[in-house]
Parts: sequence; structure tokens; C-alpha cells
Amino acid sequence: MTFTITPHASPVSAQAREKALEDPGFGRVFTDHMVTLRWSAAQGWHDGKVTARAPIAIDPAASVLHYAQEIFEGMKAYRTAKGDIVLFRPDKNANRFARSAERLAMPVIPEALFIQAVEALVKIDKDWVPSGAGSLYLRPFMFASEAFLGVRPAQEYLFCVIACPVGPYFKGGDKPLKLWVSDKYTRAAPGGTGAAKCGGNYAASLIAQAEASEHGCDQVVFLDAAEHRWIEELGGMNLFFVMSDGSIVTPPLTGTILPGITRTSIIDIARDMGMKVTEAPYSMDQWRSDAESGKLSEAFACGTAAVVASIGEIVSSSGSFRVKNASGATVASKLKEQLVGIQKGNIADSRGWVRK
Ligand code: PMP
Repeated sequence: MTFTITPHASPVSAQAREKALEDPGFGRVFTDHMVTLRWSAAQGWHDGKVTARAPIAIDPAASVLHYAQEIFEGMKAYRTAKGDIVLFRPDKNANRFARSAERLAMPVIPEALFIQAVEALVKIDKDWVPSGAGSLYLRPFMFASEAFLGVRPAQEYLFCVIACPVGPYFKGGDKPLKLWVSDKYTRAAPGGTGAAKCGGNYAASLIAQAEASEHGCDQVVFLDAAEHRWIEELGGMNLFFVMSDGSIVTPPLTGTILPGITRTSIIDIARDMGMKVTEAPYSMDQWRSDAESGKLSEAFACGTAAVVASIGEIVSSSGSFRVKNASGATVASKLKEQLVGIQKGNIADSRGWVRK
């Protein structure tokens, strides 16, 4: 597919851009351009464009506004120490996007076309990729644009990619996270959309996230919907538990949690470093008793946005407890160092994860 490229007529000046890149925060500063691509039942994928980032006009009857047929991805472009710009495992994002599309009864964008669209945006907005600790967060998404009020899969969709330069996800930097365990709200049920990255999952999680904030916590821990017993994941990150014997446990992919790309990469890195990693159910009761007995030495969360974040305290309606998190060279910090090293080109990419 050829994308028609119409560069922004008045992009942000180099000076204003450099200023914005000094402290971009997360998700507030956007680059100059966007990529759009349409799909219709009659024409398939067509009308690929790279244009100035601008509001999108949609019909008030567009299905997405009524039935929430929408999916998205979150991935990053990094500037390496050598000055190259790289994507980390974009094929994994393309694949997860395809699985999300299938679950939401939307058309599947071929993996190569997904990557082409993302690369087209990174190329035109390359000056927005921060150097140093920052990165360019990329947000591919797709929604039902057909004007039709009826409950059935839409026949027209808009795929779009936007980008924002970002710094650390959490305001507290590397401070261990304080988590709120939601016993009232669940994120996903068996047979539901938990493994898909669809906006609806996040809409349903916001009230629990607000509850977490009210309790002074950074993120929500969601438990399984059936028994309210098994730990699933955070609102936007997967979880890992490190035992004092060095073994690691992470909840399995049973269809109710998001198959994180950071999660799968951390599992591979940990195993290559000789650690034993088990994908197994781990309960809230076990977490508390292992933290109290000292069997658990660390817990951490991971995701593209926040990378790897240690967990310090867990708060629930029945009280709180702390995770030891031995300071200094924790397992979490060693894994993070490897992962970031590969992403930033400081550690050899022996697995072929990085794409220039
Ligand atoms: N779980 C949820 C609910 C998420 O939103 C994310 C972020 N995409 C993750 C886990 C982590 O996934 P990834 O490592 O692919 O960013």
C-alpha cells in the first residue's frame, strides 16, 4: 500500500519542539502528523494517508459512539545511543492488534501494513523521538466509523496512528508503587474481552482506578471475576512475583488478562538469565501470607508505558501489607536493565527484537 504523504504546512518550530521534549510528561504532547487508513466491506483497506494531526470528523451515528467497537495498541520508538531510531517487537503489537480485531468482530489489518503505517509516522516525525531516557509512544487505533444504529459489526472502519514523546509514566519516578485491590469491580470475565486491547475494558476499569486514587494508590489490582480470589493484572500492567529462592511467578494467560509484550519479553530474559519462571495462578491470600512470611522477596509490574515498576505496598478494604523489595540490585532492576539495554541498543539484541 502507498500512503499519500502531505506534510504539515506549519509544523511546531524546532525550538518549541526541543522545549516540549525537555519534559514531555506522558500523553499530553503530540507530534505534528498522523496516519489514517480506511476499511470498508466493499473496498477493503484503502485511502492510506500521512497528514497533519487534526481532528477527525465522524458521523454522530458512527457505531463506535454507540457500541464501542474500538481497539488500540501501545508501543514505543526509541533513539539508541548510536542515534538510530528503533521499534521494539512491532510484530507482537501487530499480532495482538489482529487478535483484538477478531475478538471485536473488526477487520484484521495485515501485520506488514500495520508496521508500515507505524513506520510512516515515525519517519515523518523522527525529530520528535527523544534521546536519553524518553521515547516516542505510538498509539495505533481503529474504530467503527459506519453511520448505522444497529447492533452488528460495522462495515466501515478508520485505522489511525498518532504519537507522543514521553518521559516516565509514573510521577513518582522509581518510587515503589502503592496498589489498591478492587474487591468490588472486576475488569474481565471468562469469555469476555480481557485479552483484547479494546477501549471498553478501560472504560470499565476507570471507576476502580478512581477508587485507587481516593485511597492514595497508584494503580488497581484486578482479581478474577468468578472467585474474586486470583490475581489477574493491574489496570495497565502485568504482574510478577519474585520468591526468596529466586523463582518467579506470573499469572497465566487464561483469556482474562492482556498478553503483555513486556510480560513475554521479561519471561524470556529471566529464563535466559537462569531464573525459573512459572505462569501459574497466584491468589491474593497467598500474596499476603508470602509477603508476611518472607517467602516473597519482590513484586513488580510491567508494561510498555511504565517499563518495570517495583511494588511497595498493597492496600485493600481489609487492610494493607508491604512487600520487602530488597533495595539495590533487585531482580526487577536487573530485568529492567536488560530490557531497556536491548531497547536502547546498549545490550546486544541476540533475539532480533529490535527493528531499525
Ligand atoms: N495489561 C493491561 C491491561 C494493559 O493495558 C497493558 C498495556 N498495554 C499491559 C498489561 C502491558 O502490556 P504491554 O507490555 O504490551 O505494554
